[in-house]
Amino acid sequence: MTSHLDIPDASSMAADDEPAYDTTWQGDVRAGVRQVRDLDSLPLLPAERAAAQAAATRHKVRIPKAYLDLIDWSDPADPIRLQVIPSPDELAEQEGELDDPIADHAFSPVPRLTHRHADRVLLFATYQCAVYCRFCFRKESLTSIGRGFSREALEPAFAYIEAHREIREVILTGGDPLSLPDKALVEIRARIEAVAHVRLLRIHTRVPVALPSRVTSGLVRSLQGRLMVTVVTHFNHAREITPATEEACRALRQGGFVLLNQSVLLKGVNDTVEVLEELCRELMYRLGIKPYYLHHGDLARGMAHRRTTIAEGRALVSALRARLSGICNPVYVLDLPDGGGKVPLGPCYVEAQDGDAWRIRGQDGELRTYTELVGDP
Ligand SMILES: *Cc1c(COP(=O)(O)O)cnc(C)c1O
Ligand code: SF4
Repeated sequence: MTSHLDIPDASSMAADDEPAYDTTWQGDVRAGVRQVRDLDSLPLLPAERAAAQAAATRHKVRIPKAYLDLIDWSDPADPIRLQVIPSPDELAEQEGELDDPIADHAFSPVPRLTHRHADRVLLFATYQCAVYCRFCFRKESLTSIGRGFSREALEPAFAYIEAHREIREVILTGGDPLSLPDKALVEIRARIEAVAHVRLLRIHTRVPVALPSRVTSGLVRSLQGRLMVTVVTHFNHAREITPATEEACRALRQGGFVLLNQSVLLKGVNDTVEVLEELCRELMYRLGIKPYYLHHGDLARGMAHRRTTIAEGRALVSALRARLSGICNPVYVLDLPDGGGKVPLGPCYVEAQDGDAWRIRGQDGELRTYTELVGDP
């Protein structure tokens, strides 16, 4: 058995060893945008096409047909379009933007693994994705070709996980782990499962959003085993929620996985209370996915046009907190650039402390005093 299951970038994600009876998702990949010249087939104005092609030099393009079909081409500000069609604004890099905005590399003791928090590691099983998001914070890591999955490449990471007994969660991220063939997923899961101190496997993926047909019964089975599995999806707008994504998420839930979602706050895409409110409600009520994080835009290169200010973000989440139930509310976080980790940015209701008296703003906006009463030490 050969160990290389790399998926060549310029062709499709369809591996030859995929069963012939299940070809829907391969078709979705093939009929989508797979390389820069496929942008020619999109209903763009000539000037828009030239701009998109120029911008595509800075970050790979790939858009499955299922996601492409969600774009309303009559609207230049369509929230799906803005996430995947290259824009010339990406070429306008700002002083202070970073190649590695959340310091993945500084905390990488062995290739393809980042260990910043004692109990959990990121494992980069592949550096390829089903869809390339223009705002990706790892886009510099994803640019080099040929960094698909191979058993040898992951061996040092597996050995590291085995040797570090404090690791309880292994987070498959990248790259998109669900862009790998089932066979590769089974192999990776088996290796992680064999490590007794690991308790939970986390899959960070945009596949249920951008390529829901890939969520087959075979894929679900390939993740089932000894470990608790959490699938963390990445929906940014309620328009991404369709009958197909609903079906994919139902399959994942019925497979026994815990579903969470992280979104990125993106100017022009989802930076209004109405859009975020609808997104969070539909995630929870329609897909059964708990909104987990709302990420403040990080300092990825060429993304100034998609970043909001922190003040804007805080105003949005304060409004959300008042409108949404507890389970529908995500935590608004910033992943600090120097590896400081993810820290909540608000809302904060504590206004002042005077001894054991705390001045705290209620959800109705009124300031109240809470006086601490604790037993003697
Ligand atoms: C985001 C991240 C995690 C996961 O953090 P949670 O807050 O548990 O979701 C783990 N390690 C690294 C390096 C990360 O960037
Ligand atoms: S799917 Fe995730 S890793 Fe891949 S391009 Fe999008 S944001 Fe980046």
